[in-house]
Amino acid sequence: MTELSLIVPMYNEEAVCAKFFDAVVPLIAPLVSSYEIICVDDGSRDRTVEILKLLREKNPNIKILCLSRNFGKEAALTAGIDHAVGRAVIPIDADLQDPPELIADMLTQWRAGAQVVLARRADRASDSFLKRTTSSLFYQLFSKLAKPGIPPNVGDFRLMDRVVVDALKQLPERARFMKGLFAWVGFRQVILEYTRPERAAGETKFNYWKLWNFSLEGITSFSSLPLKVWSYFGVVVSFLAMLYMVYLVLNTLITGVDTPGYASLMSVQLFFNGILLIGLGAIGEYVGRIFIETKRRPIYLLNETLGVSPQAPASAEPAVIHRA
Ligand code: UDP
Ligand code: MG
Repeated sequence: MTELSLIVPMYNEEAVCAKFFDAVVPLIAPLVSSYEIICVDDGSRDRTVEILKLLREKNPNIKILCLSRNFGKEAALTAGIDHAVGRAVIPIDADLQDPPELIADMLTQWRAGAQVVLARRADRASDSFLKRTTSSLFYQLFSKLAKPGIPPNVGDFRLMDRVVVDALKQLPERARFMKGLFAWVGFRQVILEYTRPERAAGETKFNYWKLWNFSLEGITSFSSLPLKVWSYFGVVVSFLAMLYMVYLVLNTLITGVDTPGYASLMSVQLFFNGILLIGLGAIGEYVGRIFIETKRRPIYLLNETLGVSPQAPASAEPAVIHRA
């Protein structure tokens, strides 16, 4: 029985890969009776897999899952979670931005009965001003729109008990907004605080466009409010339009035919066309996602696995080549 599984999504991480194991292995090995480190290679195009294979020769607790292409961090995490066998599971970034020193405290809380131990960033000084503001706006908006909200400044780095992992594996959707899914399953939680360091080496894989799409994914998979708001908006607007109509009629009766109203007509026209397009766009976001979900494609495809138990994932099991 494996006590602890670490899940490490890796996309072009040759620069930090070895550093990660140097830092993590000596920290966790004395803490648990047995552990596995599942490295999910998310279609890296650099030497990440080569390096992982070399490291695995020295330490068989390092296991490797190679996805057939870059599916994104959320899919990589899903693949890891599907294959982890530990009684406690911790997703952790490869770049050492999730401090491995925190694992000791997480294990202590877990042994004391917590089912989920969250790691919250006490300050975001290592982020730019723009990233801090946009992310805080996102958390505020998300918690207004979706139930349950996600705790602010909590990432994927957390400890989950086996029961939580098994619950997660029952969620079949293709839209994998992991933070939201983690929060949705619930269970007894404890929060630890930490300061997020800079990336140990290499570069971030997320630009603002990716983050924008990621937030859209989060909101549309956890809230239908952007769809429903249009009918209320419609009621308010029709009411105002009616008042305006009454005013126009009275005005014409009292003061006679008005001057030609090109400017006012045009602005009303443009304004409402814009509003209609936004409404249509919101519906499009959802219809697009319904389209993707109905195709029921697997969330990820495996190309090669090393050392990972051929455990059937909760989602449709993709074709796999298993090696020792
Ligand atoms: N990652 C991944 N697939 C991707 C993008 C990122 O598996 O398509 C991994 C990456 O290798 C790292 C983690 O996700 O281990 C977090 O990525 P990164 O550090 O670039 O994000 P940031 O910390 O800047 O938000
Ligand atoms: Mg990072």
